[in-house]
Amino acid sequence: MTGEHWPAIYERTLDCVHCGLCLQVCPTYRETGRESSSPRGRIYLLRAVAENRAALGEVISHEAYLCLGCRACETACPSGVKFGSMIERARAEIDRSGLRRGWALRLERWTLRGLVANPRRLSLAISLLRVVQRLQLDRLAAGLLPEAWRELSALAPRVPPAAERRPLPAFTPALGEKRGRVALFVGCVMPEFFGAINAATVRVLSRNGFEVVIPESQGCCGALHAHTGDLDFARQLARRNLEAFAAADFDAVILNSAGCGAVLRELREWLGGEGAALSDRVRDVCEFLDTVGLRPPEGRVESTVCYDDPCHLVHGQRVDAAPRRLLEQIPGIELRAHDDPAACCGAAGIYNLTHRAMSRAVLDRKLQSLGAADPDYVASGNPGCLMQLRSGVAAAGLRAAVVHPVELLDRAYASRAVEA
Ligand code: SF4
Ligand code: SF4
Repeated sequence: MTGEHWPAIYERTLDCVHCGLCLQVCPTYRETGRESSSPRGRIYLLRAVAENRAALGEVISHEAYLCLGCRACETACPSGVKFGSMIERARAEIDRSGLRRGWALRLERWTLRGLVANPRRLSLAISLLRVVQRLQLDRLAAGLLPEAWRELSALAPRVPPAAERRPLPAFTPALGEKRGRVALFVGCVMPEFFGAINAATVRVLSRNGFEVVIPESQGCCGALHAHTGDLDFARQLARRNLEAFAAADFDAVILNSAGCGAVLRELREWLGGEGAALSDRVRDVCEFLDTVGLRPPEGRVESTVCYDDPCHLVHGQRVDAAPRRLLEQIPGIELRAHDDPAACCGAAGIYNLTHRAMSRAVLDRKLQSLGAADPDYVASGNPGCLMQLRSGVAAAGLRAAVVHPVELLDRAYASRAVEA
């Protein structure tokens, strides 16, 4: 098979020893029971195409896009198959072959290129959404919409007020004895929907003795573009961030979004050696605080918490113990276990928009286990997971609030500050 990505796809398929250890962790295999919807089945299919034994057609396109890209199979695989980059490359080749076409693809590309990656347009669109939500036009329209559209509109989080969406200061000093200087990657969606989490991240880093700088010219990380096979555009965005973070006067680039962190950490995959200048310095905020040693908060947060692993943190970056260790250091918090915390929640970038039925089935499993644990909080460190879990928890009538771990840390520091 010819095409830019086929040699790399083929090379990855050869690593598979067909042991099947990945099958039971794969959400799409668990739901369908079909070999072709498993990691091993997808590898078979792609290898057959690479060896010109099968044509690149509808079945392979369907299975490649039915995959959530959660990378649970990578963690389970004893043979080190790089499934995530293999499936992204396969999607790029599928799109190039013209197997995906029509208005849905055009809308997806325009939204990801022209809206998500364009801060001004994104901010304008979200301001409009806020107006719609404040006038409750979304609720009025919901009654007129077909069920599928109603479900989609329920996924949209409430847009926070303008005060929470303002850019954060370019520089925040360290509190107490200075331990270092870090740069914060703020993301594209995070400032619009989760500005409070970015602000909490800055405060927590500052309270831990780190100066925080926010390079202005940074932009979207390109994760959603890469996951949907738009690798050329993802590379353009990666180059912009390479330049934005080129200054060498900070110890690490900190992220609070697992999906962005995974993609920036793997820039070598897309940019070769030049990507190392950024990827080698990328750290998830929980991983970073755990490594440097958290200044223990003195304030209490009396509550039970289920930590739920974002796929791109646990499988993409192999960070699982650090967030739990941080939460355990907050006085008053009882960490409560729930079933299969490392299983996907079904958000998977824009998967919950493009594959509603599978996304819901995957989310339902998660909600059952969270419902059985019945915590006060569900903590997870990725914007897509936060949106998906918040919408699912509300629909299922669970009482838990869904938060980012740094919000709980921030609350613990702040409650002590108020008491003092
Ligand atoms: S990435 Fe996730 S959904 Fe895709 S094959 Fe692997 S385990 Fe299954
Ligand atoms: S666990 Fe790895 S080697 Fe085994 S079947 Fe799955 S992808 Fe192949």
